Amino acid sequence: MTDLFTDTHAAALDANDPLPTLRSEFHIPRHGDTEQAYFVGNSLGLQPRGARAHVEEVLDKWATEAVEGHFTGSAQWMTYHELVREPLARLVGAEPIEVVAMNSLTANLHLMMASFYRPTRERPAILIEAGAFPSDRHAVASQVGFHGFDPDTDLIELAPDGPGGMFTMAAIERAIAEHGPRLALVLWPGVQYRTGQAFDLKEIARLAHAQGAVCGFDLAHGAGNLDLALHDSNADFAVWCHYKYVNSGPGAVAGCFVHARHAHTDRPRFAGWWGHDVNSRFRMGPEFVPTPGADGWQLSNPPILGLAPLRASLDLFDRVGMPALRAKSGRLTGYLEKLIRERLSDRLEILTPADPAQRGCQLSLRVAGGRENGRALFAHLADNGVLGDWREPDVIRISPAPLYNTHADILRFARTVEGWRHG
Ligand SMILES: *Cc1c(COP(=O)(O)O)cnc(C)c1O
Repeated sequence: MTDLFTDTHAAALDANDPLPTLRSEFHIPRHGDTEQAYFVGNSLGLQPRGARAHVEEVLDKWATEAVEGHFTGSAQWMTYHELVREPLARLVGAEPIEVVAMNSLTANLHLMMASFYRPTRERPAILIEAGAFPSDRHAVASQVGFHGFDPDTDLIELAPDGPGGMFTMAAIERAIAEHGPRLALVLWPGVQYRTGQAFDLKEIARLAHAQGAVCGFDLAHGAGNLDLALHDSNADFAVWCHYKYVNSGPGAVAGCFVHARHAHTDRPRFAGWWGHDVNSRFRMGPEFVPTPGADGWQLSNPPILGLAPLRASLDLFDRVGMPALRAKSGRLTGYLEKLIRERLSDRLEILTPADPAQRGCQLSLRVAGGRENGRALFAHLADNGVLGDWREPDVIRISPAPLYNTHADILRFARTVEGWRHG
């Protein structure tokens, strides 16, 4: 039997992987004389080396051309956001007209709810998962209240029914059926941030629509992680950020999807001049005529400096394509899972589903022996240049990002856990 725990084995897995790593395309933070084993791409993805040139291009253009920069060259600012449209559509499995890069995730969620959460007395409710990311919960609760309804009754938070905080599809189906006639919106994560569970988006959208509800997805942990097929999922809308798995920098400009069937919708929206019909925008008239598609929800002229790193990042995704990247992600996370099961199961319990279809790259690991023990292991990992992140009370999340993490990184994590003398 091969020993999974050897450097030669990890090195062979890396050398023979069908998708060679793009690690050299990224800045890898240092730990003393070595590189970090950085598993926090679920929080802030690493910087693509190409990002700087794109940012400098914008700075140079601004320095030398000033306002003329809006109108000159292929990277002119007037149409700059269109440079990311097609790569973004490929990233999330959408049509180009369905996606736009704008604002932040939470701002986009509010804009989407302004159009797609239209509660009535009979149908006021929003269904989300219990334990949702706080910003999502604040957004939906404040929207319910904004429309004069009561979050205590009209914000429905489905409790997980499986071990380790997992949701079975049966529980989701039951909840949607039970509350169906009262549901205005089902808002569900593509990957739950705490547990790493991934969901069947198409099935959730089908169930929501069958009850007459709108369906939206939060893909903060899905974009750049899962091989999404947003158009085919039939979701009405989706939102995500680009600083996690999409590696576009702290507070990066976020993403938004509006299904093509709403491209010409007359639903109400919160409008701004950049969402106005692109052909008559500069006539500066008083009437708002939306640009078809997701672009019609833009408010302002976009932050060009903020969009620049996204271009560099999407180039890398385009180079490999999501199917190949997702396949590699499965191999890396599968290796992590095997090492834990073979040698570390007395220390770490894997909460994330074992079925690769029900997870992305992240494994959420409960440390045996409680919080203090967990904190001590977490500190030991950081002291050894292995970066994960901590979720109270006793969970470490490890997210091998397939663009830059390697089997060697994963072996280093496992060895570091093994070398820890716990109390
Ligand atoms: C990271 C994350 C956010 C962050 O929201 P911002 O508006 O980008 O600050 C929101 N929701 C989920 C589920 C997240 O994982």
